[in-house]
Amino acid sequence: MRLARLVASLVISGLALLALGMVLGFASARAANGPATNGSYDVSAYRYTDKPTPAAIGGTHVLDIYVDQDFAPDERERIGLAIRQWNHVLNGFVRLRPTLLPPDPSSHALSRLRRSGAWIVAKVDSRHPAARQPSALAMTVGGSGGGFVYVIADRFGMRDLTAVVLHEVGHLLGAGHDAHGHLMAPVYDRSNGHCIDRGAVAMVAAAQHLPLSQLNWCVGPGLEDARYSARRY
Ligand SMILES: [Zn+2]
Repeated sequence: MRLARLVASLVISGLALLALGMVLGFASARAANGPATNGSYDVSAYRYTDKPTPAAIGGTHVLDIYVDQDFAPDERERIGLAIRQWNHVLNGFVRLRPTLLPPDPSSHALSRLRRSGAWIVAKVDSRHPAARQPSALAMTVGGSGGGFVYVIADRFGMRDLTAVVLHEVGHLLGAGHDAHGHLMAPVYDRSNGHCIDRGAVAMVAAAQHLPLSQLNWCVGPGLEDARYSARRY
């Protein structure tokens, strides 16, 4: 957890003077009762639209995302799944480029990455300053110049990691919370935030100045239908 300490020291030292801090948490009632489960919930009923990638995009915007080596290989795989879903949704307009962070990076190396506009996905635990809010599962701190996604790994099980990272990458791309939304609801609900719904994509499209009609999103039960959405651009 050397990275976690370095990251903590960066935060404490005020090096990370950052504009946006967003937290994803379980509602306390859910935390008390254990993760939400819904017997009728069926992930296979959900799929992504698959629009053609426009041939002429005026230069893909690449965002580097460095993943902490403290994540085990199966955890990295789950983080990678979230990043791949976002890349599909972003359809070539923005590309998230995941890279494994070198082991035990120096604080100098971390500062250099931060100055380059990169994002760092850091594995921390409940003792970390980013974990002050007791119900938080993860926290994204940063803005257009990059930042940190803190995954508070001792607060939830690995099967929720992809969904938690999907939500945090939404923040990384500029989305806020939507109390009536799915992925970007402020409280994590396993049956509700497992894919990137149109509402989340619309917030990112607005923040990144992307044409929503040329992006993809998840469709399925309880989500806006692709055909219905097509009339509402
Ligand atoms: Zn959030």
